[in-house]
Amino acid sequence: MLLGEDVYCFADASLEIILKFDDNGHILYANSLAKEELGYGEKIIEVSLGKLFPSELHTEEGSFPIDTVGEMTEGMMYRKNGTCFPVRMVVKVKGDQNLLFAINVAKRIETERKLVRMKEEMEETLKVRNEFVANVTHELRTPVNGIRGHVTNLLENGVSGDVKNTLDIIIRCCDNMSAIINNILDFSKLEAGKFVIEQKEFNFYKMVNHTVETNIPAINAKGLRIMVNIDKTIPEYLIGDELRLTQILNNFLSNAVKFTSVGYINIEVTKTLQFDDEIELFFVVSDTGIGISPEEKDKLFKSFSQVDASITRKYGGTGLGLAITKQLIELMHGNVHLDSEKGKGSSFSFSVRLHVAQKAKEEQSSSEHFEFINQNQEMPGFDSVEKFFQFGTPENVQEIKSKMEKLILCMEVEAWDKAENFAHNIKELVEQAPKDLKRSAFRLEMNVRKGDYDKSVEQYNSLKALLEENIGGI
Ligand code: ADP
Repeated sequence: MLLGEDVYCFADASLEIILKFDDNGHILYANSLAKEELGYGEKIIEVSLGKLFPSELHTEEGSFPIDTVGEMTEGMMYRKNGTCFPVRMVVKVKGDQNLLFAINVAKRIETERKLVRMKEEMEETLKVRNEFVANVTHELRTPVNGIRGHVTNLLENGVSGDVKNTLDIIIRCCDNMSAIINNILDFSKLEAGKFVIEQKEFNFYKMVNHTVETNIPAINAKGLRIMVNIDKTIPEYLIGDELRLTQILNNFLSNAVKFTSVGYINIEVTKTLQFDDEIELFFVVSDTGIGISPEEKDKLFKSFSQVDASITRKYGGTGLGLAITKQLIELMHGNVHLDSEKGKGSSFSFSVRLHVAQKAKEEQSSSEHFEFINQNQEMPGFDSVEKFFQFGTPENVQEIKSKMEKLILCMEVEAWDKAENFAHNIKELVEQAPKDLKRSAFRLEMNVRKGDYDKSVEQYNSLKALLEENIGGI
């Protein structure tokens, strides 16, 4: 017996149609689902296979050809009322008894069709959206550039103090807006797979130097230090997309500046591979800033992602930078990695593949004349970052001095926002100091926050005196 009595009850519970039939296609047994789904009820025993599978068997008498036996096939199964449904089925033969297992796949096929339709619709929507974003951002550039141009003209013609301040702010707003527009434009091009990486000769050392230079005002304003080390075996002239490489490095560097208030930023570039004209460079941009926790790490490199909403409020930004950067790095056949500890600092590393320019083979690298390169100082690891906050260590004293200098400058020009940041840094740097010193730093921050010049100066001087007593020479 192919189907024993004791298994009939299991067959009745099956989600498949199960039929037992003889060599002439006469049905000998049907499970509950077969009786119900095909609409014959108990009378199914009087039906032959040919009636259930008219397209496959053509005649009412006769069974499935022997070569289909054991193979999973697809077919159409007909109900008593003439309607049909697609099935996936398999026929098993043993002696003079045959079994057919069939499953109704109408729903699955419909779902597959729906999925294909949805995918096509999504692709179409994405295409339309990308075109729209590309057009709108392109159109936005013209008025922003127009405003910037006219404001620059006004500034060049000479304007008085207050008006100049307002115009400077308008210029900064235009620059911020241009940066956002460019990010959105890049992002939509990358999404649409329309991004082309240029292959042009450029001076690698100048590129790094220029990128660092553009960040120097922000680095100085925050009282940070920067170190740049470049492996001298890297040829001076390379072939690749200078603009995009600058964009990548600048994104990591400006983030490092943005998220660091105390300590260092370090850039290291090494040559990891050179084969014929092809060269692989490995960059590390580290900082001693706020750091990123492992959970937050997962969100990075995704579009529109900032690790948390309070960061957006405090530091600004669209969260597109790293998503674009990652894709640009991949287009340059590299990858990106992040090492970070919350509260201690971050270290972003990435590789890119470029080509060595012909010029490089003739001229030897002459990197020494570039301002920021190869200062050969060691960047502290995440552990030693703690030294900045251990009251009285040379690192801590140096930081306090630097922040006190910046603070008094900001107070003098009444740049209260910046002054508040420095006062806050100082309060953090004296966290482990004696109580009176801590209290004094706290009061200073309060007065600076209120923008009270006289009280702030008074508090500044009293903190300075306490610091001199404790660590000398402020
Ligand atoms: P945005 O343009 O908003 O800065 P990014 O994609 O460049 O966007 O960065 C996304 C988020 O990653 C930032 O908002 C910040 O939360 C985190 N981040 C990036 N770089 C650093 C860093 N050096 N230190 C700490 N957090 C960082």
